[in-house]
Amino acid sequence: MGLGRDWMPPREVRRAVRLGAIITIGSIFFTVFPVWVWLQIDPVIRLRDIYISCVVLPTLISPTCSFFVLRAQIRAERLAALNDQLANHDELTGLPNRRAFFARAGTLQTDAHRSTDIFACAIADIDNFKRINDTHGHDTGDRVLKGLAAALADLASDGIILARLGGEEFAVAGTFASEAAARIWFEALVRAVEHRHPGNLPVTISLGWCVAEAAENLSSQLSRADHALYEAKARGKNCAVKTATAGPRVVAVA
Ligand code: GH3
Ligand code: MG
Ligand code: MG
Repeated sequence: MGLGRDWMPPREVRRAVRLGAIITIGSIFFTVFPVWVWLQIDPVIRLRDIYISCVVLPTLISPTCSFFVLRAQIRAERLAALNDQLANHDELTGLPNRRAFFARAGTLQTDAHRSTDIFACAIADIDNFKRINDTHGHDTGDRVLKGLAAALADLASDGIILARLGGEEFAVAGTFASEAAARIWFEALVRAVEHRHPGNLPVTISLGWCVAEAAENLSSQLSRADHALYEAKARGKNCAVKTATAGPRVVAVA
């Protein structure tokens, strides 16, 4: 790959050069200035000799110091990023985990309340996943989970958030222009998964969803979505079912 006109060194190299330059110039100044002041008072040494050691030594030492400072800084940043990744993401699929889902969904729900949009939340569960594990092995099961996570991430548009809640259960939430739009989207999601063959196996999901009531917290919404999920399973799986109002009551809207 050629270096185009707008090529810039990587961010870390630019930072290293900047930090090295600042430390070098700073250390030269703080070495030369006191010596210069001292020589004004007591000119005992040849000016040229002292200036050479005052400039040459910091120029050699400072880049080495800045290298170690920067390396420690980069390691700290990488550890912070890793910490964030481990705390907020599911290790197998790379999707956000339950904790991250609650944080992001809260923001999305607040945004929906400020607009005319509705906030809807769903739980999707792989159908007969135990059978996949039993028939093809646990590794294939893991591959299906990763494939499904990738498919869901691919299908999720702006304003939709995803998470793996655990096992073969995924949470999906988002803002929609209307309840009808949400229904179309969730049903299309179920159909799309059916046609994608995540992990190269015919896999289907069942999905329970609900529309957030005013000031309803996310736990309550997930609980209602879970009740709708039971209904979706009872109806023969591979479908989306919506709950109506707060509480465990389920209205059959497939
Ligand atoms: P249903 O259609 O009613 O949802 O049935 P199911 O077989 O999907 O559900 P069930 O709860 O009976 O089984 C879920 C299985 O998911 C059992 C468990 O071993 C498996 N499982 C949970 N987490 C993982 C995982 O991380 N990897 C793999 N490979 N399997 C997992
Ligand atoms: Mg399950
Ligand atoms: Mg299942």
